[in-house]
Amino acid sequence: MSLTYNNRVALVTGAGRGIGKAIAELLAKNGVTVICVSKSAASCGAVAEAIVASGGKAKALAVDVADGAAVKQASEQLLAEFGHIDILVNNAGITKDGLLFRMSEDDWESVISTNLTSCYHWTKLIGRPMTQKRWGRIVNITSVVGLMGNAGQANYCAAKAGMIGFTKAIAKEFAARNVTCNAVAPGFIKTDMTSVLPPEAGEKLLSVIPLKRLGEAADIANMTAYLCSEEAGYITGQVFTVDGGMVM
Ligand code: NAP
Repeated sequence: MSLTYNNRVALVTGAGRGIGKAIAELLAKNGVTVICVSKSAASCGAVAEAIVASGGKAKALAVDVADGAAVKQASEQLLAEFGHIDILVNNAGITKDGLLFRMSEDDWESVISTNLTSCYHWTKLIGRPMTQKRWGRIVNITSVVGLMGNAGQANYCAAKAGMIGFTKAIAKEFAARNVTCNAVAPGFIKTDMTSVLPPEAGEKLLSVIPLKRLGEAADIANMTAYLCSEEAGYITGQVFTVDGGMVM
């Protein structure tokens, strides 16, 4: 099945590396104009440059998604420049792991604001014109640990579970305006975020992954790109786990 995108404009946060980069590249390959956002200008810049070099349409913008004022300024600037943004992928995320008794309030706050509060800001600002235009796709990249919990990640699990509740609420609020909102919950995906884990953690994980391999960023990009397509217009408020069968 080939998917239809009708030359839409997408904004992908955390597009500088890993999963976000794979999503940005796949959407661009399908004719979508992609605004690549990341924290550092260098990483989103390199991704946008590579997309343009391979014939696609992209722009890079460095924005700290944890900074509500910066997100507001960026949204206004981008909406003025592009006229409309039809697809929003809230993918930027960080971890600051530690057992609860050793978790500082700073580590709690920064993980909640980067992973969860960022969704509030982007969706509110980019979602309004989508609802006015009566077409939109919002995909929030959560995690399987938002469904099942994980010791040492209370901040991250709370943020990712929060994203799931947020997704369902927005799906209900925006449905009448033909704007869908879904979540994708990756399992263990090979990116910079997981490269810090010791090799034995990866081996242990393989024992609980029925498909017996770690995920690739492309596995998440494929599901996300489908949810952003015209063809996914009757799907909203759902959480899709892409995890090799770990959560059933
Ligand atoms: P990654 O390789 O660490 O890349 C994270 C991206 O997010 C980078 O481009 C980074 O920007 C950007 N980012 C981080 N903080 C930001 C901020 N404050 N403002 C703007 N951009 C920011 O991560 P990943 O593994 O691709 O993960 C992507 C998403 O998937 C995250 O939400 C993560 O929680 C989720 N996820 C990942 C896995 C996994 O196994 N990898 C599993 C479940 C869920 P810079 O490039 O400028 O640093």
